[in-house]
Amino acid sequence: MTGSLAQRAFYALAFVVVAALVCVDSAARGLTSTEVTTVLEAIDEYRAGKEAHIIRDFVELLSIPNVASNLPDMERNAEHIRRLLDSRGFSTRRLSAGGAPYVYAELKNPGAAETLLIYAHFDGQPVQEENWAYSPFSPTLLDAPIQAGGEVVDVSQISGKLDPESRLYARSAGDDKMPVIALVHALDALAANNIDLTVNLKLLLDGEEERGSPTVGPLIDEHKDLLDADLLLFCDGPMHQSRRTQLVFGVRGDTTVDITTYGAIRPLHSGHYGNWAPNPIMQLAYLLTSMRDEAGRILVDGYYDDVTPLSELERDAIASMPDVTGSLKNELSVHTPEGDGTRLEELIALPAVNARGIVAGGVGDKGRNIILSTATASLDLRLVPNQTPLRVRELIESHVSQQGFHIVHEEPTAETLRGHAKVARLEWDDSGYPALRTALDHPAALRLTRLMRLIAPDLIVTPSMGGSLPLHKFGNRLSAPIIILPLANHDNNQHAENENIRLQNLWDAISIYGAILATFGQTSQ
Ligand SMILES: [Zn+2]
Repeated sequence: MTGSLAQRAFYALAFVVVAALVCVDSAARGLTSTEVTTVLEAIDEYRAGKEAHIIRDFVELLSIPNVASNLPDMERNAEHIRRLLDSRGFSTRRLSAGGAPYVYAELKNPGAAETLLIYAHFDGQPVQEENWAYSPFSPTLLDAPIQAGGEVVDVSQISGKLDPESRLYARSAGDDKMPVIALVHALDALAANNIDLTVNLKLLLDGEEERGSPTVGPLIDEHKDLLDADLLLFCDGPMHQSRRTQLVFGVRGDTTVDITTYGAIRPLHSGHYGNWAPNPIMQLAYLLTSMRDEAGRILVDGYYDDVTPLSELERDAIASMPDVTGSLKNELSVHTPEGDGTRLEELIALPAVNARGIVAGGVGDKGRNIILSTATASLDLRLVPNQTPLRVRELIESHVSQQGFHIVHEEPTAETLRGHAKVARLEWDDSGYPALRTALDHPAALRLTRLMRLIAPDLIVTPSMGGSLPLHKFGNRLSAPIIILPLANHDNNQHAENENIRLQNLWDAISIYGAILATFGQTSQ
C-alpha cells in the first residue's frame, strides 16, 4: 500500500467504522482511530516542514565512525547521542560494564502510569571502504537507490519536501542509528503540537551490539531497577520484504557443534586398504543422515519433546502473513523446499539441525586415492522456545552414542582409537543461547498490536523470526515482555557495503514512534 501512514490510518478508520456497525467490540477500545489519525497527521505535518533539518541531524550522527572495537569513536557517538537527548529533556547516563559505552536515557512523565523501554544500538559492523560507492562515514544522499541510477543531492542545499524514495547512504543508516534520530524528531513533533506522552520513556542504546553485546548481561544485572519497564520495544532490523510494517514476537536460539569421525591413524592407500580401513567420511555421512531426514525432520530421540508448539493465535498470525513460497522458489531457483509443504514461517518455529560445513580430503585436482584419518562436519542448531543448549547437547550426544560412537571432547589418543569401534569428537561452542518468544496474547502485546493496527492497518504479526538474537539476556533478567519493531527498509544492505535508509522508512519511523508514545498509555486490552 502506498500513501502516508496518516492516509492509511484514515482508510483503516473507515474500515473500523463499517466493522463497528456489525461488531460492537471494535478494535479500538480505549482509544479511537480518530485520535491516532490526528496524532499521525500532526507528526506528518511537522516532519514535512523539517525534512532537511532532520536529514542534516542524521548526517551529523552518521559522520561519527562507529566500529564497535574502536572505543574512542564509540565514546564520541555516546556523547553526541547524549547531547541530542539532553536537549529534549531526558536525563542521560553513560553506562558500562567493562565493554563499549551504553547510553541510558529517561524521560519521566508525571501523568503516565506505565514505562516503555526502547532498545537500539549505535555501533556498526566494520567497513571495507573500497567496496563502498561513497565513503561509509561521509553520509551521502541520493535521489534514488544506487542501482536505480540515483544522483547525489547536496545536503547543505536541500530545503522543503524531499523525494521519499531518496536514500541516505552511510554505515548504520539502517542498522541501527535510525531509531535514535527518529525518536528525537518524533518527540520534537509531539512537543511542537503540545501532545503529551502517555508513557514514561526509557532508552537503552547499545554501543557493542555488532560484537554480540558481550557485557549487556552484567550491565542489566547492575542496573535492573533503572531498566524496569512494562514493555521492551526492540528497535532493530529490517521490515518485511513486502514493505509492510511488522511486529516480531520472537527469535530462535542457536548453538553449534563440530563433529569429527576417525579412521586409521594415518591415511591409507584406497586400493590396498579399501573395504578394510574404516572410512571417516562415510561414517560421518551415515551419522548425519541418521540425525535428520530429507524433509529436515530431526530424528534424534526426544528432540521435539521440550519444544513449545505454536499457539492457535500464532498459527492464525502465520496463516494471515503474505505467503512468499512461490516468489522465493522462483528467486532462489528451488524446485522443492524442505519441510514437506509446510510454509516457511511455520518451519522456522521448529528446531533445525543445519549442516553448515564439511571438511575432509580433497576434490578435483586435490583428490587423492586414499582413505582419510578424519572427517569433520560443523552443525548449527537453531533452538526454539523451551529448548536449552545444554539439553540439546545431551540429546545429540546420546544419539551419537546410539549410533555406536564412543564420544570424546578432545583429540583422541591412539589408545582410545584402538579401544573403540567408532570414535567421534564433539566440540561444542560455549556461547550457545536459548530462543525467546513473547506470547501474542500477553496483555501488553495485545495492546501494542491493536494500536499498531490503527497506525499501520496492513501490519504483519510475526510470531518468530528465523534468525537468532541473544534476546534471552534481556528476557531472563527483565520482567517486561519483549517485542521487536523493525522499521528499516528490507533492502538497507545492513552489515554490507552501501548501507542505506529509504527516507520514507525514516519518516514512517518518526510517525510510528510518535504515535506509540502519544497513545500507548491510553490503549486497553
Ligand atoms: Zn542491528
